[in-house]
Amino acid sequence: MIANWKMNKTRDEALNFIYAVNEALPSCEKVDTVVCAPAIVLRDLVKRQGDNLRVGAQNMHYEESGAFTGEISPIMLQTTGVEYVILGHSERRQYFNDTDETINKKVISALKHNLKPILCIGESLEQRESGVTHDVLKQQLEADLAGVSPEDMENVVIAYEPIWAIGTGKTAKACDANEACAYVRSVVKNLYNAAVAEETRVLYGGSMKPSNVDELVAQSDIDGGLVGGASLDPESFLKLVNACVK
Ligand code: PEP
Repeated sequence: MIANWKMNKTRDEALNFIYAVNEALPSCEKVDTVVCAPAIVLRDLVKRQGDNLRVGAQNMHYEESGAFTGEISPIMLQTTGVEYVILGHSERRQYFNDTDETINKKVISALKHNLKPILCIGESLEQRESGVTHDVLKQQLEADLAGVSPEDMENVVIAYEPIWAIGTGKTAKACDANEACAYVRSVVKNLYNAAVAEETRVLYGGSMKPSNVDELVAQSDIDGGLVGGASLDPESFLKLVNACVK
């Protein structure tokens, strides 16, 4: 279960969240719990993360260093001690010009620096309504995972996030979300093999919350969630994490 705080929480708020959840989180043997926070608080969170919590960033540049004002490199993240990095979130694709080409470079670079990419893919409402959801998912997976080896796939998490469901309160129907995640898995199988497809964690993201998490994570092809809004409150986030233990 992965929290995506987006551009939310001051340092004090971030620390209060960690203090509130650390002791209450279930064992990481039962569920992998990750908080992806703004870069400025990552080091603070890593220092205070309990045994059952992992920390992730929300984006990175693919270069190790250079004239890229305002950007953060994989080496910087690595030395901060984070384990995960969200790549290709639809908000980055929409507002910050992330393309499949740059996302692919980021995925490759993250893996090279021992960071686990949480690769986000998903269709727009227009694409869903015109019946091209599968084409969009396939094209994104092929482009974003180009050059990623089967061995490296062990460290890649895929988040299926229909854009129309992110931050809108509109959740995909559990059966539709499951169908899309199963399709994602079938594309991974074609790109790699059945074992890789079986082992790859495919998450659903898009207005997941305590009231719908049980039905979503009970689906055969949904391995967990990437959650924005409902991950900001410690109590709500703990409910989401605990739903994965059941
Ligand atoms: C997200 O940011 O990845 C997300 C799914 O947001 P929300 O849960 O708020 O829809």
